Amino acid sequence: MSSAERRIETDVAIIGAGAAGLMAAVEAADAGASVVVIESEDETGGSTRLSGAYVALCETPLQPGGREELLADLLHSHHEDCQEDLSRLYVDEAAATFRRLEALGVTFVRTFQFAHMSKPWAHELSGEDMGGGAEIVTRLEAAARARGVRIMTSARARRLLEGDGVVTGVLVDHAGGELRYDARAVVIASGGFTRGRDFIRNFGRPGAEHILPMTGQGSRGDGLRLGMAMGAAVSYMTAGVAPTAPIEPETGKGAMAIYAGAIAVNREGRRFCRESDLYSDVCWAALAQPGAMFAQIYDRAIRERYAETMMGKVLTGYREIEAPTLTALAQRLESEFGFDAAGVEESVARYNDQLAQGTPDDFGRTHLVGESGERRPIAQGPFYAVSCRPGTTHFNGGLAVDVAMNVRTVFGEPIRGLYAAGEVTGGFHGAGYMSGTFVGMALIFGRVAGRCAARAQQ
Ligand SMILES: Cc1cc2nc3c(=O)[nH]c(=O)nc-3n(C[C@H](O)[C@H](O)[C@H](O)COP(=O)(O)OP(=O)(O)OC[C@H]3O[C@@H](n4cnc5c(N)ncnc54)[C@H](O)[C@@H]3O)c2cc1C
Repeated sequence: MSSAERRIETDVAIIGAGAAGLMAAVEAADAGASVVVIESEDETGGSTRLSGAYVALCETPLQPGGREELLADLLHSHHEDCQEDLSRLYVDEAAATFRRLEALGVTFVRTFQFAHMSKPWAHELSGEDMGGGAEIVTRLEAAARARGVRIMTSARARRLLEGDGVVTGVLVDHAGGELRYDARAVVIASGGFTRGRDFIRNFGRPGAEHILPMTGQGSRGDGLRLGMAMGAAVSYMTAGVAPTAPIEPETGKGAMAIYAGAIAVNREGRRFCRESDLYSDVCWAALAQPGAMFAQIYDRAIRERYAETMMGKVLTGYREIEAPTLTALAQRLESEFGFDAAGVEESVARYNDQLAQGTPDDFGRTHLVGESGERRPIAQGPFYAVSCRPGTTHFNGGLAVDVAMNVRTVFGEPIRGLYAAGEVTGGFHGAGYMSGTFVGMALIFGRVAGRCAARAQQ
């Protein structure tokens, strides 16, 4: 095939078929643009597909709380250190995004209150047929295809094309050859860099290399590299390299039984944190424990409760130890993973005792998660444990963008023709985050990027 035959023209080329890329594609197509979505993996969805897809939104039929309240919670959870115009954009676009999603067949059924939320902002999908993230991807992909969007899988963007400081397209590896997409605008929606060891080495704090990724295989940071090669600035990279969720290392699967009532103990068998805190805080605490490992300990009743939650439906398949008694469980933890069996037993007994007596918990835990859910003792056999390491579902930092999702250079100028949305961007979360705002950001800012890219004139 000649190079001319490998050249394809489109109005908008989108790199990545996760929530941000697919939402941008739908929006750009509705604005009249011809759109192609390029996806490096053989399946669409990225990290979005793996996620529970809690989405923090305001002013919806399920959560009428107002934008100013959500904004205050966002800024608080971002430690008042973030790009505030993006936070404002998020809350201003939240209700319209909810309506848009409903119109595209994405139906939320209830809300949930995580740590740092003054209201249950996190909107939850039913999870009946598939996990929340898989449902979002499935519906958005169908909507995009119905609008004539071409979605190419196993196609990896390698370089952006540029002329006179304007981005004019993208070079893509596909089936052993190279495709050239000439475009009026390119949207980078390639997800985060949780699997990008070089980025973690250069931007992460000491110890960050121990964080295990549980994200999509495409989370290599390709989009960061593509943008940086065009002179893009990056934003909040170091603050963003943080653990978020516990991972069982043998299977690489996440496990969050702590939010259903499990306790977390270190290798000495001691508790070390308030398990109801934001899971990233639990994981930071775990990184400082001997061997950067810990175990979640729970009983039959907690296991059943966990299975009913969205997290329990999405985070499955990890290696779990079961034993008829707590003593037998503790001994297995000792023989297989080096935990101190006596310490494990003592910690469970102390936790149960404080709960029964109504005396303050050693770490101030009062609920299952944040300020919600009633705790129960760990008392009904069989007993269970999952050995974990701090893992991550996302990193915060990424390409610097403005409120049109136009990528900015290191000098603060817009790069004409280049947009970005989703986890590849930095600034919105700044130095912290609230659950439900990563898929939220991908959807909300994906819409903005799609609209603005469709309007881009060269
Ligand atoms: C287990 C888990 C649970 C989570 N739960 C939640 C939650 O409940 N709520 C929440 O808000 N967030 C959650 N998150 C985080 C959230 O899912 C992600 O931050 C968000 O979905 C990212 O969306 P995205 O579209 O930016 O990236 P992705 O969904 O990762 O999509 C990016 C796509 O780009 C592709 N790509 C990468 N490089 C290239 C390239 N060079 N060329 C072409 N394609 C490329 C990738 O393969 C991928 O398909 C969770 C994450 C995980 C892993």
